[in-house]
Amino acid sequence: MKPDAMTAAPADAAARKAVKPVVCYPVETLPRPELAAYRALRDDLELVETVVVPPREAATWTVPAGHFCRIVCSEGAQVGDLNLFNANDLKERFYSGKTRALNGTHVGLGDQLFSSFPYLRPIATITHDTLDWYGFDEFGGAVHDVIGTRCDPYTHNLLSHGGQYHHCCHSNLTRALARRTGMTPREAEGYVHDVLNVFMCTGFTRDTGQYFMKASPVRPGDYLEFFAEIDLLGCMSACPGGDCSSEHSSDTAKCYPMVVEIYKARGLPQGWAPPPVNGYDGTHGL
Ligand SMILES: [Zn+2]
Repeated sequence: MKPDAMTAAPADAAARKAVKPVVCYPVETLPRPELAAYRALRDDLELVETVVVPPREAATWTVPAGHFCRIVCSEGAQVGDLNLFNANDLKERFYSGKTRALNGTHVGLGDQLFSSFPYLRPIATITHDTLDWYGFDEFGGAVHDVIGTRCDPYTHNLLSHGGQYHHCCHSNLTRALARRTGMTPREAEGYVHDVLNVFMCTGFTRDTGQYFMKASPVRPGDYLEFFAEIDLLGCMSACPGGDCSSEHSSDTAKCYPMVVEIYKARGLPQGWAPPPVNGYDGTHGL
């Protein structure tokens, strides 16, 4: 429980609270993808690779620039914690916080996923989402969030007073990345970053502002599809929380594998080229 407020409200408190918010980043000036050009390729895609992510484990794969990637719910409601890297430079990786600031708390069709500083550029464009019907529910919940971080053994240790659990998404991602790259688990852990929570249904409680989750509405056959703007290394954990209806960091939730499909298109979107790294000169005024 947080303590009650100790400071008396000023006389004009109501007026101060009534000030209308403004959107932090007006996105009218943000370059937007020509979604129709991407979607025009979707009728003629060739499946080139299928990767199975086992339950309570993670797997890695690559998506060459210009290819499509689908994350598929294959057997049952299951949430996936996704990390994305520049396949040729792991220092450039998905930046959940800035993607949230630009797109909102949850991502979907037409949104772009951005990379970390100093690269900050779109690295993937969402081209289809079979859960786009969900929108926001009465609790303020929505799917595919970029607000959660990833379940991890450190937070679990704090909350459970010393618990040791090794199949949190953070550890699953760490092991998978270590296997892929030959790094030690300690080294690989430094590259694991805040995720895109694929299929996870989350929001903030209206009264206390707490991060909540609820059973994912995902059903077998649903998928989230994105276009790779650059060569990508994907790493995803099938969360030990399963559909995240009750808890994670345990072996009690029912968990399912997930499937990742990589597709080659017959062509490239008209006028498309891989986006250059960010144009800021990096001198910071010095
Ligand atoms: Zn998790």
